[in-house]
Amino acid sequence: MRCDHCAHDVPDGVFCTRCGAHQGTQAELGANPKTRVHRYAAHPAEHVVQPSVFTTLFPHLGQRKIHEFRWAFAAGLAGILILYVAGLITAAILAATLLVPVLYLIYLYEAQVYRDEPATVLGFIIGGGAAIGLVLTLIERAVNNPYASVGNPLRNAGVSAGTVLFLGLVVPVVQEALKPLPALLLPNRTDFPETVDGLVFGIAAGLGFSVAESLVAFSSALTSLPAHMTPGNWIYELATLAVFQPLLQGSATGMVVATIWRYRRGRLGRRELGGVAVAVVAHVAFALGTLLLKDLLVNPLFILVWQAAVVGGLLIYVRYLLHHALLEEAAHMGFAETVCPNCHMHIVASGFCPNCGVALTAAPMAVKRARKPRADSTAKGSVRD
Ligand SMILES: [Zn+2]
Ligand SMILES: [Zn+2]
Repeated sequence: MRCDHCAHDVPDGVFCTRCGAHQGTQAELGANPKTRVHRYAAHPAEHVVQPSVFTTLFPHLGQRKIHEFRWAFAAGLAGILILYVAGLITAAILAATLLVPVLYLIYLYEAQVYRDEPATVLGFIIGGGAAIGLVLTLIERAVNNPYASVGNPLRNAGVSAGTVLFLGLVVPVVQEALKPLPALLLPNRTDFPETVDGLVFGIAAGLGFSVAESLVAFSSALTSLPAHMTPGNWIYELATLAVFQPLLQGSATGMVVATIWRYRRGRLGRRELGGVAVAVVAHVAFALGTLLLKDLLVNPLFILVWQAAVVGGLLIYVRYLLHHALLEEAAHMGFAETVCPNCHMHIVASGFCPNCGVALTAAPMAVKRARKPRADSTAKGSVRD
């Protein structure tokens, strides 16, 4: 059949395998079949505007794998809760710091985003992120130490205006400027041309940074708290540490690096520049809001709600950016027989699964390698290049 949107001859399907457009009259009324915002390109079962964590930050995973990662995350949170209830606060802080970064490391191996050079790519990006995090956080603490008084940091009331400006504005902006460096300086970065690669590298660098930052920030608590103590108010701090802090650091840097990847492809538009602005504004809002709300001694639950709202908005912008990048960058990869990583159908496809519409540029490396090139597709005369 001939696609109404890109005018290529493509195999029959719900989605055009060349441009990803939602075909035919079954497309939901009112939705633009070409931009198909109701069918997020990395995970077509979801709308683009949805604050999902895993389908946004782990874009290479199909439905089944996403499920496994969600369970692993839930199990990790349950483990942290058990440590907290048992009064093992130092262990809980360490587990909270490492939960999301370790899941991401497993994901990077699962998707083989690094192709043939895991040591170079992972060492450079995660190690580089951690090194920058260590140096920058030590400098920040030398200038201003918010955790000077050991104990419950939620009770540190009465911060000065200078501290607020420094921690709420200067620090986030400097961090966003420096965190993308490992991904930008990656020696073999030209081997990874897709924006989805840039996004994942940025997230990995941001998470490496986040680990170092959290360890330095809680170093006094880690070294001075007794191994076993009454849990107190630590649960709120642990929630920030395990969930919101890494998600903020990862998605903000992911978005900045994705924008730089778009620029390299000559696709720098308003959407991408908006992404950088959203990343910086979200980080400032997160840090400044947390600081001011703590100062006002509001219920710590409100602080978590605020952090969740900021991270949710940030995730939605990352999806919006990635969705359009995947739709625009779908190169004609040649028709090939493959098993869709998302819906697991045997398909003959180029850029998108004709059945579920997932962008195959975001398929795990093992799936890409298993493609069996096919000279002619099921559609007659579809060999055009
Ligand atoms: Zn098309
Ligand atoms: Zn599919």
